Amino acid sequence: MRLFQIAEYMNWLKRSVILCVFFLSPIALSAAITLYNTGTKQNVSLNTQTVDGIEYVSFHSLNQVFKSIIKEDREENRVYFNILGEQIIFLINTSLYTYKQTNYNMIYPLRRIDDGFYVPAVFVTEHLPARFNAGKQVSLVGGKLQFTNPRDSSIRTIVIDPGHGGKDPGAVGRKLKTLEKDINLEVAIKIKTLLENELGLKIILTRSDDRFISLSERTKYANDNKADLFVSIHTNASQNTTSHGIETYYLATATTSEARAVEALENQVVELYEGGREAVQRYDDLAFILSDILQSEYLEASNTLATQIQQNLVFGTKALDRGVHQANFYVLRGAFMPAVLIELGFLSNANEEKLLLNAEYKDRLARTIFEGIKRFKYRYDRIRNT
Ligand SMILES: [Zn+2]
Repeated sequence: MRLFQIAEYMNWLKRSVILCVFFLSPIALSAAITLYNTGTKQNVSLNTQTVDGIEYVSFHSLNQVFKSIIKEDREENRVYFNILGEQIIFLINTSLYTYKQTNYNMIYPLRRIDDGFYVPAVFVTEHLPARFNAGKQVSLVGGKLQFTNPRDSSIRTIVIDPGHGGKDPGAVGRKLKTLEKDINLEVAIKIKTLLENELGLKIILTRSDDRFISLSERTKYANDNKADLFVSIHTNASQNTTSHGIETYYLATATTSEARAVEALENQVVELYEGGREAVQRYDDLAFILSDILQSEYLEASNTLATQIQQNLVFGTKALDRGVHQANFYVLRGAFMPAVLIELGFLSNANEEKLLLNAEYKDRLARTIFEGIKRFKYRYDRIRNT
């Protein structure tokens, strides 16, 4: 009997503790914000939580509704919030954020609770309609918040760039005098066909015949067409006739002497065919792009894309794996999208020159590059659309 009483008392104590913890917890579930989705013509509800008497919304729930993404920069104590095609930068634990180079004050701070970030509800109810009213992505109509369904951010347009062309032949085969520009174009056309037929994507070639196009025109073309990826196709050459194998690059400052050699080789087109040192200076002035925050986001994706392509290429062709490298290619600099440059093999190596002339081998190169892009796309789309 005594034992039973103790057990009952313990139960009562446990319940009281649970209740106390519930009421003392800084987060308590409270109201919700209702938004009208003009695309689906349905109301969506965004749960809010009260923290120290102020209504807050989690980025987790914002991301579900707006298909937005956040990225924390621990060093800078910032949160980058990509929403409706724009970027908002929050300073953690402050009430300030930056949007299109202007600072705004939410009055209450952005907070980190456990593993997640929370923004004051006023950001959703007042700041979002104020910032996005011009484009009508978020607006207040008759006191009711409404938003336009965010567009599908999957990869849909890819620019394939066959290196060199016209007066610029690129590398020249040692034995059979094969021209790099011809191999690049043939493989690029094959990749285009695969991506169009098997994934239904819009593929744009920077050139579809033997003509000269400057490096900056190539990336401008990709930017103007709002391409999601930029893939430049090249064939290698080296003083060393035994050098062989495949390598893939993405933009960054070249880290090894070999990478610098390939960088110099691919960049020399500017001095040779685009107007000498003056033209080189123009490209060097573009270097500031490297420091751009958005560009550094693309660097990460570019690295992943380069790795996927390189792995598939090496596995499918059994060529020597020369790895994924960083180099400062002019052609990749101005691209505001993940961008890579592939070196298919060495025309300076007699065996590889012969291989690169073989139609079946070129099919395999195209197929494995296609598979690499496909894998990257599946992964990237999933991240961008969730
Ligand atoms: Zn080249």
